[in-house]
Parts: sequence; C-alpha cells; structure tokens
Amino acid sequence: MPRIPESNCPWCGHIIDGATHPDDDSKMPSPGDVSACIRCAGLLEFDANLKIVKLPDATLDAMRFNDFGGYMQLMHIRNTIREVIANDDRTRK
Ligand SMILES: [Zn+2]
Repeated sequence: MPRIPESNCPWCGHIIDGATHPDDDSKMPSPGDVSACIRCAGLLEFDANLKIVKLPDATLDAMRFNDFGGYMQLMHIRNTIREVIANDDRTRK
C-alpha cells in the first residue's frame, strides 16, 4: 500500500497515511483522484499535494455524468466500507 502524506480525514478525523487502488494496490494516488475514508466512508479527494480533502458535491455530480463507471466504483467502495463499519463491533457505539 503506498504511503501518502499524513492527513486527518476531514469528516471523522481518522489519521490516514496510506491509500489502496482498487485495481492495483501498489499504485500511488494522483492529485484529483477520489477516495473514501476506511473509518467513516466519507468521500475524499486528493489535492495537489496528495493531502485529502472532502470531495466537493460538484465534483461528485460531474463524475456521475462524465465518468459513470468511476462514480459507480466509488459508490460501491463507500457501500462496502459502510457494511464493514456496520458489522464491526469495535466501531459500534
Ligand atoms: Zn473518516
């Protein structure tokens, strides 16, 4: 898993210093790539310095129209993380 500059998830504060690519686990993210927090499933985007920021709604909307396959993949990843969260006793309050 490639290491990225350490950031806090802008949604939940979880410290993130790595990222996996769904097709190639060794691939580094590029600026503008989208992601989801492994802890809260919040949608994220890599900025120019590979720091993570909240994925803007406008970007997500544009993705749905311009890159529907990528959009569906991101939604699938988010749903998968949410299922893991829901089934993980450690995160259940
Ligand atoms: Zn998070």
